[in-house]
Amino acid sequence: MNKAVQKVLIVGGGFSGMSAAIELRKRNIDVDLVEIDPGWRSYGAGITIGGATLRAFRTLGILDAFLERGNAADGAHIRLPHGVQVATIPTPRVAGPDVPGSGAIMRPVLAEILADATRASGADVRLGVTFRSINQDEDGVSVETSDGETRRYDLVIGADGLYSAMREAVMPDAPKPTYTGQAVWRAVVDTPEGIDTAIMWLGPNVKVGVNPTSKTQSYIFITEDVPARQRFDDGELVSKMQALMEPFSDPIVQAMRAQIGNHSSIVYRPLESMLVRGPWHKGRVVLIGDAVHATTPHLASGACIGIEDAIVLAEEIEKAESLDDALPAFQERRFERCRMVVENSLRLGQIEINDGDKEEHGKIMKDSMIALAQPV
Ligand SMILES: Cc1cc2nc3c(=O)[nH]c(=O)nc-3n(C[C@H](O)[C@H](O)[C@H](O)COP(=O)(O)OP(=O)(O)OC[C@H]3O[C@@H](n4cnc5c(N)ncnc54)[C@H](O)[C@@H]3O)c2cc1C
Repeated sequence: MNKAVQKVLIVGGGFSGMSAAIELRKRNIDVDLVEIDPGWRSYGAGITIGGATLRAFRTLGILDAFLERGNAADGAHIRLPHGVQVATIPTPRVAGPDVPGSGAIMRPVLAEILADATRASGADVRLGVTFRSINQDEDGVSVETSDGETRRYDLVIGADGLYSAMREAVMPDAPKPTYTGQAVWRAVVDTPEGIDTAIMWLGPNVKVGVNPTSKTQSYIFITEDVPARQRFDDGELVSKMQALMEPFSDPIVQAMRAQIGNHSSIVYRPLESMLVRGPWHKGRVVLIGDAVHATTPHLASGACIGIEDAIVLAEEIEKAESLDDALPAFQERRFERCRMVVENSLRLGQIEINDGDKEEHGKIMKDSMIALAQPV
């Protein structure tokens, strides 16, 4: 066991924080995880899983659970609004020859798989709890939590997402999330006949997609250009989403449109982006996942890079003599890959908004896929 790091607090039980707990526990490091949501809930949309994410699932030990409860498939098709197929994007089998190159799953199902693995790892999970104060000295960090406990740690990992309170506490000058000019709609439907992998229909200013999340269900995602943030009442969501799909005459899109109703778990989300370029650590506190690199979903890789952060951080902690070695080594291995995902995703969004160069769009997609398939 690494002597420099024997006890860790993880703040935030999302995909990144849970993955960190699992990987640190494999190395016999004591882990406390505090999650602010007493129900440890994940909202009910689907999530696209790329080959690199499947490789990370294999490392975490949750690949079989994913294959059982989610959906894995090869390739993604691109169609015009009336249904003519114009391209198929290959998805390399990054996780190994026996595992398809992409897939999808419902977020609450993935969250449950990871939560089960986190608890099984022996991590001490406290729900409905956050940190109140952090005091660092040469030998450790004292953290007071909202349940009145004060405990001492060698390392604190902030995995508390886009609006990270930990980032605010230790890096108040870090950049704030910025709105990118697009929003995404998601809904859950029964999988239309004949669909077994992701399909995207490209229209002007609106892009419709579907991806099967299990043997019977799929999620629809619609990316819309919207100059300024909007808010909608729940009662407006069905009609707004159906209106966006109306111009797409492919019968598959119309069949999905007809299914959408109040039961479809519709989620509307303006897209934001943020990248911390300075150090991701301050003393004995390190940030991972969306807390330091939040991306728009154009490469469907935000969860992937947060989970990879957790894997690489645990590896570097195991290897290094001290935290002063481990934390810079962690960021050195992670920064370029995470920057690539955040900035290429942003650029893809800008090209879509400006009706820009389709060739550049295709090249960025292809280059990003190749980069994501590289070892981490
Ligand atoms: C519209 C949209 C679609 C996306 N689609 C995809 C996709 O298809 N594929 C993909 O790979 N990625 C996708 N992403 C990105 C992905 O959702 C995120 O990158 C990922 O969820 C980040 O995980 P995280 O654990 O770092 O942060 P989060 O998921 O935000 O988790 C943070 C956790 O910390 C908890 N928390 C917050 N504050 C505190 C606090 N103060 N104390 C304690 N706990 C706290 C929260 O409750 C939460 O559980 C998408 C993102 C968006 C916006």
